[in-house]
Amino acid sequence: KNVIEIHDLKKSYDDGTIKALNGLNLEVKEGEFLSIMGPSGSGKSTLLNMIGALDVADEGSIHVAGIDLMKTKELSEFRSKEIGFVFQMHNLIPNLTVLENVEIPMYETDLSSDQMRERALELLKAVGLEDRADQIPTKLSGGQRQRVAIARALVNRPSIILADEPTGSLDSQTGDVILKLLRDLHEKENVTLVMVTHEPYVGKMAERIVNVLDGKIQN
Ligand code: ADP
Ligand code: ADP
Repeated sequence: KNVIEIHDLKKSYDDGTIKALNGLNLEVKEGEFLSIMGPSGSGKSTLLNMIGALDVADEGSIHVAGIDLMKTKELSEFRSKEIGFVFQMHNLIPNLTVLENVEIPMYETDLSSDQMRERALELLKAVGLEDRADQIPTKLSGGQRQRVAIARALVNRPSIILADEPTGSLDSQTGDVILKLLRDLHEKENVTLVMVTHEPYVGKMAERIVNVLDGKIQN
């Protein structure tokens, strides 16, 4: 069963002068771990933004978790229910504690504050940071912050994790830890993982690699 189905997707910027996606086709199976690779400017981030409904395509079709993203009016509900984001700029809120940061996506659910706390602590434990729950993120290292971002991404049990250069700002040893953590959680929580990277070594961690060039899939 496909969790992502994209046909002939097009997206341009600057009144059509920049064709970021130029008739892109992609299918991703439920539970798959996919790497998206390709040179800078090839359209990887744009593709990820389309899958996560952070931006809308111009033409073509895109279905994610059974939702037609060209038609639905409930994009923010789709995002908070179905997608966990792990982006390079992890966007942790500096004046909230680690625990509160992980709880943020649950504010849109009807969980009680006790249930939110319990689920957030469960995820912090899974990423090895339960003892940091009450600290603020600026006290943490880059790798620890990325682990908080991963905990936050998983907290609503999304069907898909979108990771954009998740190891980008980290040294290689810390990057390895983050990658292994993502892969383990992907297996344990049976979540589909779509990762953008330009590092071949990082891409090889996935079950399948697709290459983007000039706004299309190459292979
Ligand atoms: P990649 O992630 O592979 O580096 P991007 O998807 O970021 O590629 O960019 C694809 C192309 O679209 C590039 O030429 C980039 O400059 C352009 N682009 C991306 N986002 C925007 C935007 N918001 N406004 C204008 N141009 C953009
Ligand atoms: P990457 O590191 O994946 O290549 P970029 O730094 O190119 O990512 O892009 C980061 C974000 O900025 C993306 O969300 C992309 O859509 C946006 N972006 C990229 N190029 C441009 C541009 N020329 N103008 C405006 N926004 C852009």
